[in-house]
Amino acid sequence: MFYFYCNGGMSMRWYRRYTQEMFVPVKIECDRCHKEYENTGNECLEYQEFVCIFIDGGYGSIFGDGSQLQCHLCQHCAKILFGEYLREAPEENENLNIIE
Ligand SMILES: [Zn+2]
Repeated sequence: MFYFYCNGGMSMRWYRRYTQEMFVPVKIECDRCHKEYENTGNECLEYQEFVCIFIDGGYGSIFGDGSQLQCHLCQHCAKILFGEYLREAPEENENLNIIE
């Protein structure tokens, strides 16, 4: 078994080599609770519900111009961290905040 660490080991997602150029994600680790979930069996539903945040900092970004940041959170930690700020998504074209 071969695991590929994306971003030189900084990422918390593991890949298995599928072909010479193609890798398949097999496991992910939550950046908050550090629990690992396999992309197979009983854990695959948890794997699929991960919240992955990617930030590409542009000019004026408080994270730094050109910064590339990421965060992988299991759904349980995402709910703890963001739960009070989450809201139901409106239907398409419904409840649009239109500025006249
Ligand atoms: Zn977690």
